[in-house]
Amino acid sequence: MKKFTFFKTPLHWQILISLSLSVALSLLFIVTETQDSDLAHSCILVCDFFGKLFLNALNMIVVPIIVSSIICSMTSMGSHAHFGRMGLKSLAYYISSTLIAVLVGLGVANLLRPGQVNPELAQRMIRMSADNAAAVASIAQNSKISLMDIFVQMVPRNVFSAAADNGQILGVICFSLLFGFFASQLPKRYQGVQADLWQSFLRTIMMIADMIVLFAPLGAFALVTPKIIGTGLELMVPAARFLGCTVLALSIHLFAVLPAFLYFFAKVNPLEHFRAMMPALLTAFSTSSSIATLPIMMDCVEKNAGVSNRVASFTLPMGITMNMNGSALYECMVVIFIAQLYAVVDPSFCMTFVKQFTVVIMAALTSLGVAGIPSGSFVAIAVILSSLGLPLEYMGIVLVVDRILDMCRTTVNVFSDTVGAVVIARSEGETVYGSKGRSRPL
Ligand code: ASP
Repeated sequence: MKKFTFFKTPLHWQILISLSLSVALSLLFIVTETQDSDLAHSCILVCDFFGKLFLNALNMIVVPIIVSSIICSMTSMGSHAHFGRMGLKSLAYYISSTLIAVLVGLGVANLLRPGQVNPELAQRMIRMSADNAAAVASIAQNSKISLMDIFVQMVPRNVFSAAADNGQILGVICFSLLFGFFASQLPKRYQGVQADLWQSFLRTIMMIADMIVLFAPLGAFALVTPKIIGTGLELMVPAARFLGCTVLALSIHLFAVLPAFLYFFAKVNPLEHFRAMMPALLTAFSTSSSIATLPIMMDCVEKNAGVSNRVASFTLPMGITMNMNGSALYECMVVIFIAQLYAVVDPSFCMTFVKQFTVVIMAALTSLGVAGIPSGSFVAIAVILSSLGLPLEYMGIVLVVDRILDMCRTTVNVFSDTVGAVVIARSEGETVYGSKGRSRPL
């Protein structure tokens, strides 16, 4: 089928141009102090409309993609040994990259100490956090779950209601894995029927995905503009140090750690991979949702990197829920930041080595259950803060800068998923980036 495009310019350039226009327009409103004018409100209303349409369109196809891609991948794998090997490799990648991410966060937070501010600034931040008391209260309400509950979600009581709720993707994945596994054990005749059925289903959904992707530049503009206009710059100043440290830690993981995985384990040129994944990264940045980015991620990993459908269909749907490097790093940064701030207010509080170690383990574990939706990691952060006896109210400070940081950590989450897919594809002997690609040979 001939692929339809609106413009000849590559998609990532189209998204970049629309993001630049979005920043320019928002700054114009901010600099001229007209964020509250009628014009700005109308602009936000129009953007909200198109942004919701785009997000809904992406979310609409996520559950069908997850279910059909996992089942297709399992039925095409055939033997148990195949499935077990790929599952173990994915798990090894998720655990190692997540642990490194948390350690990067811990290192930066301890070295640069964003929460160790003078008592006057600490009080200002705490006062500012009172403005977000309602939002914090609702997070606290949702966070009355234990670490155990996150794992209980893996077996949903009702798979349809789990599918209807964005936060319960883990349950849908487990059901699809079970279904795919037993479909591959059916007698040959029935197995063929199942494989053909789900394969044609997946292909149809991916064609819908191709069409939605064409609207990504418009979607990016519509989603980002209200965020920048709504956040304003002056509110960010008190939490600027935390913002800067978190962006630094995320950048270290994105530009040094993950490229090292690509280079050493997949022998792939990281720059080439960045270029190929650009549409997915920019969509993650604009939507702040790994789940919503899944359709574009699948497209990029299969079409631009050349990873087989078998590997991409298995690793990416699992990655968007279980491999949250950016979120794990962020959880660690927030908890250490709040602990440092709390120590300014209450000098008797001390973040001992044992407590820091607890943060590392809990951030890595809870990130497995973080939903790939905007602000999905707040529940996990609340769980860690309560277990350390730190005040949940302080999360109000972080909420001020969360919009921008959510965009950044989601980009890291998505990039790590694509790196995992490439590393596992190479370890399975696949040729990525084509035979003429510039990837270094294994
Ligand atoms: N927004 C993130 C994601 O979708 C989750 C989070 O809040 O950390 O990947």
